Amino acid sequence: MRRLRNVKIVATLGPASETHEMIRALHEAGADVFRLNMSHGTHDEIREKHRLIRQIEKDLDSPIAILADLQGPKLRVGTFARGEEELKDGAAFRLDLDPAEGDASRVCLPHPEIFAALKPGATLLVNDGKIRLKVENCSPDFADCRVITGGTISNRKGVNVPDVVLPLAALSEKDRADLEFACQLGVDWLALSFVQRPEDVIEARKLADGRAAILSKIEKPAAVEAFEDILEVSDGIMVARGDLGVELPVAAVPPIQKRLVQRCRAAAKPVIVATQMLESMIESPMPTRAEVSDVATAIYEGADAVMLSAESAAGHYPVEAVRTMDQVAIEVESDPTYTQIMAATRIAKGDSIPHAIVAAAREIAETTEIKAICCFTQSGTTALLTARERPGVPIIAMTSLRGTARRLCLSWGCHCVMTAELERFKGAVLSAVHAARTGGFAERTDQVVVIAGVPFNIPGTTNILRVAPCDERLISNTDPG
Ligand code: PGA
Ligand code: MN
Repeated sequence: MRRLRNVKIVATLGPASETHEMIRALHEAGADVFRLNMSHGTHDEIREKHRLIRQIEKDLDSPIAILADLQGPKLRVGTFARGEEELKDGAAFRLDLDPAEGDASRVCLPHPEIFAALKPGATLLVNDGKIRLKVENCSPDFADCRVITGGTISNRKGVNVPDVVLPLAALSEKDRADLEFACQLGVDWLALSFVQRPEDVIEARKLADGRAAILSKIEKPAAVEAFEDILEVSDGIMVARGDLGVELPVAAVPPIQKRLVQRCRAAAKPVIVATQMLESMIESPMPTRAEVSDVATAIYEGADAVMLSAESAAGHYPVEAVRTMDQVAIEVESDPTYTQIMAATRIAKGDSIPHAIVAAAREIAETTEIKAICCFTQSGTTALLTARERPGVPIIAMTSLRGTARRLCLSWGCHCVMTAELERFKGAVLSAVHAARTGGFAERTDQVVVIAGVPFNIPGTTNILRVAPCDERLISNTDPG
């Protein structure tokens, strides 16, 4: 699907978006990446959503990334007989280990390690901090709480215990099973929740064994502190503002977001800004002005992607929410201030030939009448380095590897196109020109920049740059390669 913007849109699928028609409508409205939340739904349900996405990808012949989000050591309550209950301020409410369905007086919290660590006086936050409970009395298998701030509690809502250090493993048994399931199914990205240390990422990477790229969700104070080391071993990052804003004071989140986005761009790794971006659109077809501004801010900061959670998974207006993000992105990216910010925050790091080539490609594209930068990439690195430049023309990422094309769907500006395996540079130029024309990026009379590593299929060898006419008849037999 041809997009008229560079920032990408991640849409979470859920009950509001599980039919073929709806997923297709979301993709057509602008969703580039679909997020399957492993915290909700059975493996059969996830398999079905995966099947539908791959079907749509095939029908439309355009790569789509699938991101499987592992629950991680996220604490969640069990389920309720009636699905949800209203907790009143001042009421008593018990959390326990009994798997029976809950009611207005109790619910299961299936985490013995919390009960072991809890002390009277500790605060428990439910549903991103909307409900506040204070522990009055506890034992190894229950905690009697007082409702300090009430609200609606429903099935499997998240629980945070900010003032107690919990000895939690990075990947639970469920996560390991989900990871293996997702890899066998064939997902492009695995998101790790509640990463605390780089070792957590390294462990998941070993298990994935190259079958999916690894995205670390930054949602714990410990992860913010260890961020540089976590970034180093991750393929991408999510600024997971929902839990981050509960684990830390909410006011600490915006500066962290800014810094993480900057650091990810410097590292040429995609970064998603997530959670509550268009929260009011769960119920309303119109976003608040503040939400529009939040989406715009993330884009001005240079994020690779913005994300919808409940807005697309469980809201009344999933398509409208995607469309809103799309329109905000188009508006921001056409603002000259955006271009200035991208240029002013560009990373001057030309310490290798690939860096110099992508910088040159951008400069040529911006100083002349060039319609696109077509980059040939197998590992994805050349496209990531090109995206880091934030050039003013579209990036056409060309690869013969479907996994690479899909993974790059998360990265700023990358329009991903599958090619045949290439041997000669002239063939690459011809297929680049063809992709630029059929994708609607250029006319026959235009020119594009083509960058590649020759010989092909050796990663990290970006070493050639050609300004090519979009008329095949003008690409001479004397072209190199
Ligand atoms: P979640 O992660 O939606 O899985 O909780 C995102 C966040 O915490 O912001
Ligand atoms: Mn979270």
